[in-house]
Amino acid sequence: MNITLRKLLQDPLYKKWFAKIPQETSVGTFPWRVWVLTKKGWTKPKHDFKTYREAYNWIVPRINDYQDLVLYSKGHEFKPPIIKYRGKRYYWPTPPGYNWCGYCRRPTAFSMFSHHHALTHIADPMAFRCTICGARKKFQKQFESNLPASYYDRELAPKGTPGGTSK
Ligand SMILES: [Zn+2]
Repeated sequence: MNITLRKLLQDPLYKKWFAKIPQETSVGTFPWRVWVLTKKGWTKPKHDFKTYREAYNWIVPRINDYQDLVLYSKGHEFKPPIIKYRGKRYYWPTPPGYNWCGYCRRPTAFSMFSHHHALTHIADPMAFRCTICGARKKFQKQFESNLPASYYDRELAPKGTPGGTSK
């Protein structure tokens, strides 16, 4: 199970980052794709998008229309948001049990697949892949956060959300 976009956006820091148009974009004319989760699984509801803003503007009014949604970057891999705390910079922490997917631009669950909605062919069924976009874990960079425990005492994010207090 993935943490839904609705839940992720309860974290003020992630929400701000998600709303910001990234400087880097993927190559190609339509570098942005929206995946939505329905009863039938993950599906593409629309053609791909030329700009992040277009894709973002498609997602926001529909956030309650689907079980979950992803604004996926086709080619460029993104680092997690940065948290500035007491003069230092930290990566936004990926919640335990998840991996940061640089293409889905969020923490996702990874698993092994013999069939995957995003892929036409699986060459390596033993490989761990992002449950949403199918990217292989071994090619995904992971970003340790090392945020000090004192950060969580500030309770910037709601309890139970990524970046929220886990105590
Ligand atoms: Zn992914």
